Amino acid sequence: MSERERALARLFARLGSIPLPTEGMTAAELAAFHRDINRERVHAAKHAHPDHALVVVERRASGLERLAERDRAKLERDLVRLSSFAQHLVKSADPPISPADLRRWSRMLAEDQLPWIHERVRRCFIDLFSGSPVDLRRLLEPRRSTREQPTTRLWLIDGELKEMLEGAAPHEHPLGDFLSILRLRPFPFGRCPVCSNVYVRVRRQRYCSLQCTSRGVEAARKGKRREYMRELMRKRRERDRLLKLKSLRAARSQRGSPIA
Ligand SMILES: [Zn+2]
Repeated sequence: MSERERALARLFARLGSIPLPTEGMTAAELAAFHRDINRERVHAAKHAHPDHALVVVERRASGLERLAERDRAKLERDLVRLSSFAQHLVKSADPPISPADLRRWSRMLAEDQLPWIHERVRRCFIDLFSGSPVDLRRLLEPRRSTREQPTTRLWLIDGELKEMLEGAAPHEHPLGDFLSILRLRPFPFGRCPVCSNVYVRVRRQRYCSLQCTSRGVEAARKGKRREYMRELMRKRRERDRLLKLKSLRAARSQRGSPIA
């Protein structure tokens, strides 16, 4: 994996670890949430600064709003810096984007793209790690269009990503980089069994961090100890039962024996 691929993989792992606000909601709560968000969207569109107001609503819908401002700004910067799609936009802009405008332009692009990229990346990881196939058409579906996309599936089987067909080239689609990182072999991501975060695997790494490693190892040790104690108690009970049986038999045979 190249340095850039690793940086991209880390960005997607981070995005994949941020929960969506809708996770764990019941159907009724989900319906109410979407009603609220849609009402806010309509309201934002009529707002004095519609672009900014919409950005805020999109963030709230994606769960990024819960991040600290500094963390979110870093994700946005990383996205523009690493994204083939964004870099391609800059290079092919006509008229060219002036260096003076580049910062503002980058921020606007990131604010606009990050919420929905996060949502799709998160959903994709949830499906892959729960053993469900991911429909590439839905992953790559443009935000506000019904244009046909290729029907292609990714499927994580025994830790190996099976896939077919071409999706979007990295520079053609905001999720093109995500797709090319997913397709790396061996599959570069893992999900931590302790905290459920997605992380970029180094060799056979099983946990996301040193902290989770020690917690995971400790839990396994405790689990083993519990098992050992349970077995010990079972053996003790069995021994007691046999002893009782023996003494009962002894008492019975004594009673049965003729008194001298
Ligand atoms: Zn963890």
